Amino acid sequence: MDFDLTKDQQDIKKAAREFAEGEFPEIAQVCDWEEKYPRDLVRKAADLGFIGINLAEEYGGSGYGCLEKCLIAEEFWRVDPGLGSVLVSATFGADMIDLYGTHEQKKKYLTPLTKGEAVMGSAITEPNAGSDVSSIAATAIKDGADYVINGNKMFITNGTVGSYFAVICLTHPEDSSRHRRHSVILVESDRKGFEATKLHHKLGIRASDTAELYFKDVRVPQDHLIGKEGNGFYQFMEFFNKTRIHVAAEGVGIAQGAMEMAIKHAKSREQFGKTLSSFQAIQFKLAEMATRIQAARNLVYEAAFRADKGKPDHRLTAMAKWYAGETAVRVADEALQIHGGYGFFGEYNIERFYRDAKIIEIYEGTKEIEKIIISRALLS
Ligand SMILES: Cc1cc2nc3c(=O)[nH]c(=O)nc-3n(C[C@H](O)[C@H](O)[C@H](O)COP(=O)(O)OP(=O)(O)OC[C@H]3O[C@@H](n4cnc5c(N)ncnc54)[C@H](O)[C@@H]3O)c2cc1C
Repeated sequence: MDFDLTKDQQDIKKAAREFAEGEFPEIAQVCDWEEKYPRDLVRKAADLGFIGINLAEEYGGSGYGCLEKCLIAEEFWRVDPGLGSVLVSATFGADMIDLYGTHEQKKKYLTPLTKGEAVMGSAITEPNAGSDVSSIAATAIKDGADYVINGNKMFITNGTVGSYFAVICLTHPEDSSRHRRHSVILVESDRKGFEATKLHHKLGIRASDTAELYFKDVRVPQDHLIGKEGNGFYQFMEFFNKTRIHVAAEGVGIAQGAMEMAIKHAKSREQFGKTLSSFQAIQFKLAEMATRIQAARNLVYEAAFRADKGKPDHRLTAMAKWYAGETAVRVADEALQIHGGYGFFGEYNIERFYRDAKIIEIYEGTKEIEKIIISRALLS
């Protein structure tokens, strides 16, 4: 067992840190306050190879794995979760094409992502289908050479900025298995009948674009099917088994960034004639933060390591996602507490991290859904 990152991995981590520290601080607050999606930042990050690092070189990626993507996610979210979200999610859906797409689909849809020319999304959630993915009701009906899609999708990342989306639709409502009724279809946002409305006033990651999507008789050719008809539910479960590891890494990044802010504040703020860091109550908070972060990081790296070895462990991935989410929320809470009243104001970055952390416990499988996966594996 080797706990050291390779030289390449250390270099990637360092480069990601330098990029984030150089580019994020100036725009982080304004993107959060004004809910502004920084499209230029995506292009810059793509030019430096940070977008789609885990995609094949043939399609403009760097051919690295899940672990390398996690290192980037962690470093970006450490500096700013909102901007980290913009960059890590710029390819949200690429893993679906990578796992199940044809060579033509990969060439056509992955290459523009790695060049920073396109951004994509994955449209699963609907107003009445969240955690229960098998109840998705948006339909795709064959008509001539096309699928005709009707329905709504809710809370879709990159909804108003994305060029195309991996959309899960009901194609086989008659199938007796709830898990064999759906298919994944790639839909471009310039198709007639496609509409996206930006959702405002999110609690956190406000630089990230979130929208409701409407499909009204949207026609796409049948060769836009990704993978197999009727296999959409299973494809998305496999997809999440990869992407949830990146989300867990985001949680580690938030927690690390929050703890570093708390340490800085504790060392400079004086009360009762001493720095806050000289009080044991504060020292213990920091010790607990560091231990939780290390435990979460180890879970994330092991889950990523196993996925990269071709042996993804669903239970471990769910553990990493749940625990990293809880760590992000707890550490951000305690880090804000160490800032006292100052932490309650937006001028201090910790206020933003506190709001941003909560998303890790919600998207790509809530913490309850992760616990269902873990307990099922234990009891099966
Ligand atoms: C900022 C943001 C970005 C998002 N981006 C995307 C995206 O790009 N694409 C996409 O498709 N979706 C996206 N989502 C949606 C997200 O994945 C869902 O919100 C999430 O899966 C939960 O679904 P829901 O909101 O409908 O909650 P519900 O499923 O209604 O759950 C509500 C609560 O009940 C709990 N619950 C549900 N079922 C059970 C059960 N069986 N046992 C115990 N507890 C249960 C849940 O854990 C949760 O706490 C995004 C959401 C947000 C907030």
